[in-house]
Parts: sequence; C-alpha cells; structure tokens
Amino acid sequence: MTIQLKGIAASPGIAIATVLRLEKDDYVPVATAVEDTTAEQARFRLAVTLASEETEQLRKQTAERMSTEKAEIFEAHLLVLEDPEFIDVILEKINDERVNAEFVLQEVAQTFIDILQGMDDTLLQQRATDVADVRNRIMNALRGKKQTADTLANINEDTILVASDLTPSDTVRLNLDYIRAIVTEVGSRTSHTAIMARSLEIPAIVGVGLGLAEVKDGTTVIVDAIEGVLLVNPTEAEVVDYQAQKRNYEERRKVLRLLVNEPTLSRDGKQVQLAANIGSVADVSKALANGAEGIGLFRTEFLYMGRATMPTEEEQFRVYSHVLEQMQGKPVVIRTLDIGGDKKLPYLPLPFEENPFLGLRAIRLCLDREDLFRSQLRALLRASVYGQLKIMFPMIAIVEELRKAKLILQEEKDKLLAEGIAVADAFEIGIMIEVPAAALAADSLAKEVDFFSIGTNDLIQYTMAADRMNESISYLYQPTHPSILRLVRMVIDAANEEGRWVGMCGEMAGDESAIPILLGLGLHEFSMSASSILPARAQIADLSQADWSLHAEKMLRMGSSRDVKAYARSLTDNIVTE
Ligand code: PEP
Ligand code: MG
Repeated sequence: MTIQLKGIAASPGIAIATVLRLEKDDYVPVATAVEDTTAEQARFRLAVTLASEETEQLRKQTAERMSTEKAEIFEAHLLVLEDPEFIDVILEKINDERVNAEFVLQEVAQTFIDILQGMDDTLLQQRATDVADVRNRIMNALRGKKQTADTLANINEDTILVASDLTPSDTVRLNLDYIRAIVTEVGSRTSHTAIMARSLEIPAIVGVGLGLAEVKDGTTVIVDAIEGVLLVNPTEAEVVDYQAQKRNYEERRKVLRLLVNEPTLSRDGKQVQLAANIGSVADVSKALANGAEGIGLFRTEFLYMGRATMPTEEEQFRVYSHVLEQMQGKPVVIRTLDIGGDKKLPYLPLPFEENPFLGLRAIRLCLDREDLFRSQLRALLRASVYGQLKIMFPMIAIVEELRKAKLILQEEKDKLLAEGIAVADAFEIGIMIEVPAAALAADSLAKEVDFFSIGTNDLIQYTMAADRMNESISYLYQPTHPSILRLVRMVIDAANEEGRWVGMCGEMAGDESAIPILLGLGLHEFSMSASSILPARAQIADLSQADWSLHAEKMLRMGSSRDVKAYARSLTDNIVTE
C-alpha cells in the first residue's frame, strides 16, 4: 500500500525514482592520550590544509555550476578554516590537554556551534551549519575517510536522495545527471538545502519529519514537490498518473522559460509590460530571472523597517543606485515612503490615531515630516543617473498634495545641482491611484504626472470601506466587482486622454482571473510578484485584447462580482451567452 508523507514543497517539480539514503555519519571521537603533541598538531594542520583545498575546489565548482553568490558559502568556510580563534585554539588544546585532534576538534567546534545557535540573529544561527560543515570536512581528512560528497558525485542511476539534511558541500557535489529530487527530514523553505535545490532546479521536499526514517534504500517513491507530498511504494496507477503530471509540468516550465526574454504580447499583438514588485535589493535578481521588464513598484518602506534608526541619505542612495544599476536601463518605479496605517517605525513616534488607515499615512506623513521626505528625495535624485528612475508618490488624494510633493522634489533637485551633484536631466514622476477621490479625479491629475500606478490593495479597501487587515470582512475584497472595474476604467481613460501610461501594482495585477479583464480595459503595465510574471506572460499570449475589450465593456455594466466571474467562466468554458 502506498504511504503518503507530507513535507514542505521547497523546490517545485515531480520525480519518480528509487531512494538512495545518505546516512548521517554518527562517528563520535573519543579522547585518546597522545605522546607526541607536535606530531598530532602537524596531523591536524595537514587535515586543515586538505580541507581548505577541498573547500576551494567546491567554491570554484559552485561558482561555475551555480553562481558566485552561492559560492560565497564556501568563502565563509574558508574564513573559518583560517580563523585563529578556531584553529589556534584547537592546536593549543592538543598541546595542553595532550589528547587526539579528533576529540579536540569535536569539542571546540561544538562550543562554537552552541554559541551561534543561541544567537537571536538568524544569519548567525545559519553560521552554525557552516562550522559543522567545516568540522566534518576536517574530521574526514583526519580519519582518511572519503567525503560523502564523493559518493554523491559517483551516483550513476536515477536517484531520489533522502537524508536528514544536506550540507552545502553535499548539495554542490550532487551528480545532476542522475539526482532527480531531494527529500529531507528537517529544513524549511529558507534552509540551505531548499535554496540550493531551487537554484539547481532540482525538485525538493524538506521538513518531512521522522517518518522519513522508514523509507529504505531502493524503495520506489514519487516526489510531488509541487504539493509537498512523498508517495512511498506507489501503485502502478499512481506512477502512470504522476508520469503524465510530470510531463505536463515540464512541458509548461519549458514553455515558460522560453518567455524570459520575450516581450509580452496578446494573441492579437497588443503589447503590455510586465514588471516586478520588490521590497529590497535582493529581490532584483529574482525579478530579472523571471523575465521582469522593469520594476513597477519598489516599496521603500522596507528599508526603514526592522531597524532602530532612520536610514541615512547615503544608505538610501546606495540601495536605489544599486537597484537602478542592476536593472540595466530598464524602468524602475521607486515609491516614496509609505509609512503609517499598519506600518509603524520604532524610531518615529506618531500620534495615536483612531483610524490609522485613514490617518497620517504615506504622502500625508511625508508632507508633514518634510525632513524625512527631503532626505529620501535627495537620495533618489542622486541615484537618478544610474538608470531609468521613475519616482512615485503614494496615497495622493487631491492635486494639492501632488503639487506640494513635486515642488519639494524640484527644490531638492535645484539644491543638488547648485552643489554640483549630478541629477538625471529627465525622469518621470507619477502617483499611485489608491484613494477613490484620485481615481474619480484622474482626468485632472493626469495633466500633472507622467504616469499612474493603480494600487488596488488600498483602492479596494477604501472603495469598499473595508479594512484590508480585517479577516471578518475579507469577503469585501472583490477586485472584479464592477465598482472597482469602473474606477480602473476611469483611470485608464484619463491617462490615455493625456497620453500618459498607466500600470497597476496592487495584487490584482498578478491575479490570473483579473488579468484578461485588465488587458481588455487597456492597462499598459502589470506589476506583480516575480514568480507570477512568466505565467502571466503565457496567459496573455493566449488572450485576444480586442475580444476582452468587448467582454470588459459588458462586465463594467454588471451588478456584482459574482456576475462578472460567472460571465468569465462561461467564456473559458466556451459557452458564451449574449
Ligand atoms: C496597493 O495599495 O495596492 C499597493 C500596491 O500598495 P501597498 O500594498 O504597499 O499599500
Ligand atoms: Mg497602497
């Protein structure tokens, strides 16, 4: 009978093969007295040299096979191997305690691991894995033992690797020609194994738990790393079913990957832009790898959060210029600070408000605290020469707010130029449309901006008068309600009238049920989480903009979201009712 085990789908894909278990080496050294401590120290030094050579080789391999970023793990290992606090302490202990190197290594490494694991910082906790990895490598060299990694490199048939966990060095040595999937007992979506598996594009399920211990070598399993399910000893019918699912999945991935560098075109040739929403520099590479044609929303408030002091102008400049540089001339919409509402800063005390979402938030706060705003604008202006910057103001409700923000921006630009600091000759200025008043007055606002980006997360909240954080009224979050569609249409029409472009950076832009309607309404740019971009590009390629423009027209006149959805369903089911 098939046994099903659940875990965390850490790297997507489906695989069917037999299991190879990577058993934990539970060697525990015992203390043995040594006579010649100098010789023992020399033996330890030699083991460290061997471990360093091997690490250097792993670093090179990783840089070649994955990326220099991934190879940084091994640079960290090399630092541990050279760290006098680690190595010299061991050498001294061998001499002072007159015991064998294996025992001292185990003891000292464990002290380091315990200290690191006790730290609050998750990055430092991760370093404990690095120390354990280095310890194992030196230990194996001392014992003249072949690395597990060598076993891994020698695998020569289709294999599902099952282990308690994998160290980074294990993962790098995997023979990718034969390892079809990885399943581990421990781990989370952000553990080393998960990150490495995603980067190698090997399906992986992590955190399966102790039940995995029962899965023996040679057992046939199905790894469904889309759902995070492991089927042990599957039936013939299950194998056939999953083989078909695997083929479909791989076909789809292949097709999607072909679209990375392609423009986004509807079936009838209408071009739109697909951009990514980001919250940090680290998100940029993911955006590019997923075919983003630009950054449609950089939520800068994340730079201000999770820290004890305000980021300086210089810090911000470094971040903005780095993002612009990495995007290599592709458009980057950077939104000025959107704090207040549900986002608070520990170092910026704000007066108590009965209704923070209706209070001193975003541009309102920036216009109230000009010092804050000016420092961010200066950083943005200085960064503007590094790429195609577009500055966006959030939560604009009335034109006076926009004018004031633009005035302050102009003042800071003039000051910088007077100081001899370079600022781009031209960059676009836009606003988010997320307050219904702005959507209703989009025609006049369009005369004073270069672009709009519709923030549906807030636009829906304010239109429906339904707090986006309140679960009990979440039924009112209805992106395809005709009231919302009419506002979107109004904004698009107003932008078109003035020859401006209009995007959307709320969640609705990446929602596959909303995409056809937005395409039909004539939206120019869709900004979404990076992982939604390629599926959206494929979806749009199948849609006729002209047809959906007619469908959207009908939907605008409907009375409820339910009617809109029913109509959309009837279209996909090909039973169009007039
Ligand atoms: C929005 O409101 O749709 C939006 C994109 O901004 P945020 O979610 O950051 O408020
Ligand atoms: Mg918003």
